[in-house]
Order: sequence, then C-alpha cells, then structure tokens
Amino acid sequence: MNTFDRDHLWHPYTSMTDPLPAYEVASASGVRIRLKDGRELVDGMASWWCVIHGYNDPRLNQAIKDQLRRVAHVMFGGLTHEPAIALGRQLVDLTPGPLQHVFFSDSGSVAVEVAIKMALQFWQARDKPGKRRLLTLRGGYHGDTFGAMAACDPVNGMHQLFRGVLPEHLFAPRPATRFGAPLQPGDLEGFERLIGTHRDELAAVILEPIVQGAGGMWFYSADYLRGVAELCRQHGVLLIADEIATGFGRTGRLFACEHAGISPDILCLGKALTGGYLGLAATLATSEVAVGISGRGGVLMHGPTFMANPLATAVAGRSIELLLASPWERRIAAIEDQLRRELGVYAAHPAVADVRVLGGIGVVETREPVDVAALQKLFVEQGAWIRPFGRLIYLMPPYVIEPADLTLLTRAVGAALAATPH
Ligand code: PMP
Repeated sequence: MNTFDRDHLWHPYTSMTDPLPAYEVASASGVRIRLKDGRELVDGMASWWCVIHGYNDPRLNQAIKDQLRRVAHVMFGGLTHEPAIALGRQLVDLTPGPLQHVFFSDSGSVAVEVAIKMALQFWQARDKPGKRRLLTLRGGYHGDTFGAMAACDPVNGMHQLFRGVLPEHLFAPRPATRFGAPLQPGDLEGFERLIGTHRDELAAVILEPIVQGAGGMWFYSADYLRGVAELCRQHGVLLIADEIATGFGRTGRLFACEHAGISPDILCLGKALTGGYLGLAATLATSEVAVGISGRGGVLMHGPTFMANPLATAVAGRSIELLLASPWERRIAAIEDQLRRELGVYAAHPAVADVRVLGGIGVVETREPVDVAALQKLFVEQGAWIRPFGRLIYLMPPYVIEPADLTLLTRAVGAALAATPH
C-alpha cells in the first residue's frame, strides 16, 4: 500500500483516517488490470460502467494522439471544433428523433445539473416559475453534486447529512415489477398520485430508465417506464432520462429507453461515452425544450471550462464508431446468457437474497451487507477486480470479455459467497 496515497489522497466515499485499502495499478490492457506488484486482475467493473472496449485500445489511443497534434483543449465560448461537431451529430443521430440539441459537460453529475436547469428554465420561460420541483423514484442515483444528490434516494443518498441545504423533491415508491414482467396491479399508483397532486409545482420527472444503478442495481418493468412517460405527457411534466449508466449498449439496447419505446424530453449521457478514456458527458434536449428556453432572448445558464474538450470529444466519437462497428448486441447477449447460467446457481445459497441479470449486468444481492475490504482482498487473490457495495456483489465487465475470463469472475463471486457468514 502506498503510504502517501493512504495519508493524503481521498478516494471515493472514504475516510481519511481509516480508509479502505487502494491497490496501485501499473497498467491495464484489454480486460486486465496490472497491479504494481505484478498481479493481474480481470476487470469485472468496466471501471464503473465506462470501459466498454477494454483498456489501452490502440484505436482509441490513436484517436487521442491524432487530436493531440491538433489541439488538446480550447474554450467552447465563441469557438467550436470538428470533434465536438462530429460527436454532436452522432448523438443526435443515435438517440430518439426528437432529441436534437446537445450540451457537453465533463461529468455525469454535471450533465444531470444541466438537465435540471433546462427543465427549470423551460418553465420559467413559459411563465410557470412555480414548476420547479422534481419527482423521482426511490432507489435512484443521479450523482454527487447538490442538484443531482437531491434526486438520489433520500435514505441511501446522503439527504440526512445535508438536510436544509438540499431542495426537497418528491419520491415515488421504487417500482416493484421486475424487468420482463407485465406491470403488477397498483405498482404505478404511488407515482400516479404524486404527479397528479403536484403537477403544478413539478418541472420534471427524473429517473434512470429500466436499471437503477448505484441506488440498488434494480431492473424494473418496461411497462412501468411506459406508464411514467404517458403520465408525464398527460400532466404537462417534462421527463428526464438519466442514461449515464445504461447508455451505449449495457442493457442489451443502445439506450435503455428503447426497451419501453419511449423518448424523453431531456437525456443525460456519460460514462461509456468516451469508452472510459476521459471525463465527458452530454445532456440532450428536444427542440421544444431548447427553443422554449431560448424564447424571448433566454439563454441556458451553464458553461463549464472544459465544455466539449477536444480530446474527450475526439475519443468519444471514435468509441461510438467502434461500438457500432462491433457485434455488441451479440456480445452483450452472450454475456447475459453466461451470467444467467453462472450466477444463477448462487440463488439457492443461504447468504443470497436474489440473483438478477440484464444485458451485461449481473447482480447477486446478499441478505446482509458485505465486508467490502475483506471481499476486495479475496477477489484480488482470485485474480478478479470486483467492488461490491452494501448488499450487492455485481459484475459489469467490458463488452469484449472472453467466456473464460467471465467464468473467472463468476467463480470469484462464488468464492466470496462461500466466505460470507450466513
Ligand atoms: N447518473 C447515474 C445513473 C450514474 O450511475 C452516475 C455515476 N455513477 C451519475 C449520474 C454521476 O456521474 P459522475 O460520477 O460522472 O458524476
């Protein structure tokens, strides 16, 4: 363990006095992360959903080198450049038809902040300034900045810690109907009641379509999502789809909204956008929203320093080209099939509450919270990189993983369960 790191560098959600161990990485390629001590780990996390093509891909490296020869960064105020234009065009083409306008930022949380601003500014421009609250689902996660955090699950989303500072939004129950199942009677009722009662103060509904990620790794019914989209339309409330985690194929469709055949008013993208090379996110809006905000001389009040960074937009454009040229649907279907078989057997384990799989995401939910440090150590000994949280041990590998490497990961999960007290 590096002592400077331990004593001086914060890691995500970690104490400075009693940090979880951090393993030092020397390099990575394909699905393998090489530690400084020489050990090699098969990556089961795609570095938090983003490294879809694997590490150190020569084609993505080349895209950055090519752009580096031209310009690494330039402000986006008053200037523009080819990689941003090309990427904007790709995103407009790939996402549902009505989404025509793109705002680039540097992280998912900021993309969510921008989406919220768009919704608030839209209603202000329509002379409905009272419409400024959000309605969302329990079990959601949208980022760590204040606006985004206020829309995260109120229990596991740090609301207690920041009470009085965070805006208080409305929370419908977590959808109970699982993905693939027809909507259970009554499942949408809580949502329907809230949107009906509060429509005049609601700017937008924000949710993660189909897969709730960091708030609980829960996959819910496409019928529920369709119902939400319909209720938003009926009640005059905008729909923000946060596809930062689900976008670019992870759920088996290019975007998770496609499972329900819906098109949001505002869409957030990030994570896999650059294939995991650089921080970049995008918020897309329909012409109705974009033109609405800009009516009567209005401007969208956001403009980050590294907006549309040329290196990030260049590598994102190349990453999307590689994805579309690859047999990604077949790869995700194969990963899904293997995860179902190899994780499915753990459903009967006494420490396990549930096993669920969708696309390139496999989840083993345990009955009791896991000991993250102990399991991380065990995984590293097994040659696997898996980082559980709470009661969730989950896998979401790069799309290019080979079956034998995926088996190494699912076996490591089995070893972790065997070591889990029950
Ligand atoms: N929305 C979702 C659905 C996410 O999964 C995340 C990141 N886990 C974010 C927003 C925030 O993105 P970032 O960490 O890049 O700020």
